[in-house]
Amino acid sequence: MLSVKNLVVNINSQRILNGINISIKPGEVVAVMGPNGSGKSTLAKAIMGDKRLEVFGDINFEGKDILDLSPDERSKKGIFLSFQSPPEIEGINSEYFLSTSIDTEWDAVVKLAKKLGIKSELFSKDLNVGFSGGERKKIEMLQAILKDPKLIVLDEIDSGLDIDSIKVVDEFMKDMKKRNKGLLIITHYTRIFTNIQPDKVYVLVDGKIAGEGGPEILSKLDKFGFKEWK
Ligand code: ADP
Ligand code: MG
Repeated sequence: MLSVKNLVVNINSQRILNGINISIKPGEVVAVMGPNGSGKSTLAKAIMGDKRLEVFGDINFEGKDILDLSPDERSKKGIFLSFQSPPEIEGINSEYFLSTSIDTEWDAVVKLAKKLGIKSELFSKDLNVGFSGGERKKIEMLQAILKDPKLIVLDEIDSGLDIDSIKVVDEFMKDMKKRNKGLLIITHYTRIFTNIQPDKVYVLVDGKIAGEGGPEILSKLDKFGFKEWK
């Protein structure tokens, strides 16, 4: 589904990612784990087509090169990115925003939101304005379900979430895997993988893939932290 080859990314002429190779198949949960500042969000932004990045290498989605596509074209192809810090959008009502370009009836959206633990009063407010970190993350998950993409990139979905909400993420991942979505889970904690184990784990350190393997990497990370890979 997604194949990233020899990806090099500069920001303001500074090298941030240095030769990244990753791939995701439909129905696969792939984790990218790394310490702060290792380049995880930059990788997510490169996949989504953030114009502020200078990108070299190959990014293929369903066999086609997508490097020249804009973020909205990539979105239409079925790539969804949940931001690490979803921005406040003043002047855009949440219900209005969520109900555009979806086929789902609003009643069904509200039901889904309830399952994710989203309070319905948020829908009458401007998008994310004054929302807690956890509320923003849940709105991102709701969007991911409504837009029905093929590949879902979650950038630190667990940051700002309470223990109950982490279980919601777990359910979300399980459900999306069942629906054959590709999931790229960016995090620096192993705690979100309780019921759902990643099929593949990449360790990103200083802009390079320092290790890759199966879920056994999670227990190694829990024991030793990232220093093992530095
Ligand atoms: P992570 O998500 O793993 O914490 P990031 O991808 O956000 O890391 O950042 C990787 C590195 O790139 C950091 O050193 C960060 O300071 C730098 N960086 C990210 N965005 C910018 C930017 N817009 N301008 C300058 N440096 C940036
Ligand atoms: Mg980040």
